[in-house]
Amino acid sequence: MSDDKAIWPAIDPISAGLHGRCPRCGEGQLFSGFLTVGKRCANCGLDYSYADAGDGPAVFVILIIGFIVVGLALWMEVTLSPPLWLHFLLWIPLTLVLCLGALRLIKGVLLTLQYRNKAAEGRLDLGE
Ligand SMILES: [Zn+2]
Repeated sequence: MSDDKAIWPAIDPISAGLHGRCPRCGEGQLFSGFLTVGKRCANCGLDYSYADAGDGPAVFVILIIGFIVVGLALWMEVTLSPPLWLHFLLWIPLTLVLCLGALRLIKGVLLTLQYRNKAAEGRLDLGE
């Protein structure tokens, strides 16, 4: 994860993450399922065991999509005052679609940024 810059040119982690590509080579698939991270890159062999975004993607999705959907629902209620069933009919499916779409994109970006910035759990360095 650290000494491979001589072999692999630097890639844009945002672009690679948004496309679900390997953070080292930018070619192999990062995900083996919709949100499941694969075991290793099929192109360069990078081991994805380091990848752990934790709750990060969910937090970003909640904050970003929540801001958009609640803002739109409030605007619609204030300006048009539609019946309650129309709110449910509009905002529940929109929220599901936006959250599922954004979750994959944000998880990909966070995992590629984790690789780029060598982010990992803290460890004590007790000397050698
Ligand atoms: Zn790769």
